[in-house]
Amino acid sequence: MDLAAIVERLISQFLAEPKNAEAASLARQVRALPLHSDGGGFYGLRSTGELIEVRWDEPESVQPLTDVRLRKLALHQGARKYPELSDLEPVRNSEAIVCASCGGSGLARVPPYLQQEVVCWCGGLGWLPSPADEVKASQPLESIRRWWEFWRRR
Ligand SMILES: [Zn+2]
Repeated sequence: MDLAAIVERLISQFLAEPKNAEAASLARQVRALPLHSDGGGFYGLRSTGELIEVRWDEPESVQPLTDVRLRKLALHQGARKYPELSDLEPVRNSEAIVCASCGGSGLARVPPYLQQEVVCWCGGLGWLPSPADEVKASQPLESIRRWWEFWRRR
């Protein structure tokens, strides 16, 4: 099964079992799978391979998610939530930098009872992308195939 079909199926499942009515309503509206949400909105994955940023209070203003750190955060959190997306898990390369905030543990520096809800600056990976990754992430994603290969190569 290709990624587009997997994402479509996960979106349908998410809409069918909404744990959070607001998220389901927004996900339906923008046709994207929420990978990670917080007080501001959510980062979503569309079956086209697009990563987007949606705000709770402005569902009409969907933005492409271009920040490389946030893209990795979204993919890491998404892969944790949905095992079917494990191939999208960001892969650490030799240029990655240890996250100074968590010291590489991936756990946010908050009281233990909040650690399930608060995600570290690094997205829980324990490392941050190198500046070279920023350049790659700014290139356009022309097709889901290319996008898929792009992530698999990392
Ligand atoms: Zn961290």
